Amino acid sequence: MTNEPTASFATLLSPLKVGAHVLRNRTLMGSMHTRLELLDRPIDRLSLFYAERARGGVGLIVTGGYAPCQDGLLDETGPLLVTPEQADGLKPIPQAVHAEGGKIILQVLHTGRYAKVARPVGASDIPSPINPRAPRALSTAEVWQTIEDYVRCAELAQRAGFDGVEIMGSEGYLLNQFTITRTNNRRDEFGGSLENRHRLPVEIVRRTRERLGPQFLLMYRVSALDLVEGGATADEIAQLAQAVQAAGADILNTGIGWHEARIPTIAYVVPRAAWRFAAARVKKAVTIPVIVSNRINTPDLAEEILASGDADMVSMARPFLADADFVRKAAQGRADEINTCIACNQACLDYIFADRPATCLVNPRAGRELEFSLLPPRAVPRKVAVIGAGAAGLACALTAAERGHAVTLFEAGSKIGGQLNLARAVPGKQEFNELLRYFKQGVARHSVMLKLDTRADAQSLAKAHYDRIVIATGVRPRLPQIPGIGHPTVVSYADLLSGRMQAGHRVAVIGAGGIGFDVATFLLHDEYAADAASTPQAIDRFHSEWGVDTSPSAAGGLKPMQPVSSPREVTLLQRKPEKPGRSLGMTTGWALKAELARRGLRTLSGCSYERIDDAGLHLSVNGVPQTLVVDTIVLCAGQDSENALLAELRALGLTPDVIGGAELAAELDALRAIDQGTRLGLAIT
Ligand code: NAP
Ligand code: SF4
Repeated sequence: MTNEPTASFATLLSPLKVGAHVLRNRTLMGSMHTRLELLDRPIDRLSLFYAERARGGVGLIVTGGYAPCQDGLLDETGPLLVTPEQADGLKPIPQAVHAEGGKIILQVLHTGRYAKVARPVGASDIPSPINPRAPRALSTAEVWQTIEDYVRCAELAQRAGFDGVEIMGSEGYLLNQFTITRTNNRRDEFGGSLENRHRLPVEIVRRTRERLGPQFLLMYRVSALDLVEGGATADEIAQLAQAVQAAGADILNTGIGWHEARIPTIAYVVPRAAWRFAAARVKKAVTIPVIVSNRINTPDLAEEILASGDADMVSMARPFLADADFVRKAAQGRADEINTCIACNQACLDYIFADRPATCLVNPRAGRELEFSLLPPRAVPRKVAVIGAGAAGLACALTAAERGHAVTLFEAGSKIGGQLNLARAVPGKQEFNELLRYFKQGVARHSVMLKLDTRADAQSLAKAHYDRIVIATGVRPRLPQIPGIGHPTVVSYADLLSGRMQAGHRVAVIGAGGIGFDVATFLLHDEYAADAASTPQAIDRFHSEWGVDTSPSAAGGLKPMQPVSSPREVTLLQRKPEKPGRSLGMTTGWALKAELARRGLRTLSGCSYERIDDAGLHLSVNGVPQTLVVDTIVLCAGQDSENALLAELRALGLTPDVIGGAELAAELDALRAIDQGTRLGLAIT
């Protein structure tokens, strides 16, 4: 990348001296498990994945975690680095990154009592609330051996050609488990006093520096906020940071919250930059550079944090899944072209937890660089019509236009976005605005001919002689067959979220899928919430509601959660007997349910809807009749496909493609819509 930094991102794009290295800018692609190792040709995949980010200009990359010994594995299939042969097998990764002018370090991660293996090990035998497998306490000799394992792993990383290592000391993994009494009740030189509890990480850093020499970049990731009972105070964290610096670390990364914390740290419900205060405290304690992390997803915010002096470098992990060219676009004054991470976790963390390789909802290419690089280039420019400017249609139109096809995009409504416009109205889901901005600028930049307020009809489409016609007309809310469904108290989720209709004080929501929960969120928040996710006030409110104590003396950064008031009484209903919320994302659903429970959401399963009249909603719950006296009933009972155009075009002898909800309404979400639209756009040759 040869571009001079623009004035607007002058700090972010300025070089940073770290130990013996000079990083080309202050962006770090933080460590992410990708599970690409589970697929065939894993090293090719990982090399391409990281090289693409290096080509996009990121200052420094950290790999996913590699265990330094068998006990440290994340699970039986997790990455391990213990032999010279394994190190040699990794060589293509740093080679590929270096060829793009980037730098890459390998993360050394011992998961301790979080390991999903038959018998995990830990600082003590205290079990973790999120792992049913009880740990065995490491003996003193085994702890000293673990230190040697770390150093050997770093040596192997050096042999493989990595520029350095990140010693993972946060998120509740083994080193973090040694640092606090919640998980460390040892009586040897690794337990008891603060100095003893810090001995393991400090010794690892000291010996790694001694053995690997001054050229090797040594990063330590310190837990800047544990967010668990018995966690460290700011003073204890500062002492660890100072000890690690004295032991030879070049730079400190920061981590927020143990995996077992009951406070969300990166999900969309967390306001942007909600944790910068913790990194700023670490920075005050040391003289080496400090990296801020978690929920920072735009260059403007990254620049503002650096310029304020709260940190020296910004870690963004998921934002580089969403857009490999994040830095290059910022540097070239094209920040509005960045495909922004919306913090949904749907295709990255939720996939990882389901043992699937990570990708990205807004960027289906992420993690699949190998497949996409094998696609044939477009042969001839085609004349393409895409009907419907929702997520599927937009992804298809934009991808096809990027490949040089002449695309006309028809939209019956007055703006693009379809259901994305409803999602962005939900408090906490403001990040969908970024996705809409991305599509909007892409459509303009790639000269997609956008025809708003235009309902494409079969005859005119046939007359225009398109090479390909793509139906992406989406869905319409399903109208359940309940007597009285036309009663004036009944509104659809689309009418409510679009602002066409208002809800009263007492509300019943029929249907507890993703949209039912979105509607409950909308109803249980004040007006402020929909457009104020990232303000200092929103951050204060988040801390207060979730019980985050920002004062330095608070152990673990916790305080009692503050009660919250809700503007309405909401009951969420479903017919299935199971607990509502099963379809929500694994890594975000728990936080959403906890938040709504605090706001008084009532849920009922096993419902059979009898009728709606002036008295309210009559139903039976597990066979027991009752009447919900409500002012408004919101229908969130799923959707049906909107694809009447298909039959009309077929009747004219045309063979359109059908994507998104128009093809299949069930289980449709932005993830499937964008993936399908992108793939079809790529397949038009
Ligand atoms: P959904 O997940 O299929 O849920 C529809 C709900 O309506 C279910 O609770 C279903 O449960 C109920 N229902 C279905 N037919 C009904 C009928 N005839 N009468 C009464 N109730 C009926 O669909 P959705 O909530 O509309 O969401 C659409 C898609 O968007 C889903 O794939 C969803 O995952 C996705 N989405 C995801 C998120 C997210 O945060 N990840 C947010 C919004 C939407 P019962 O049949 O048990 O009553
Ligand atoms: Fe971000 Fe969602 Fe993509 Fe994950 S899937 S990187 S959270 S946009």
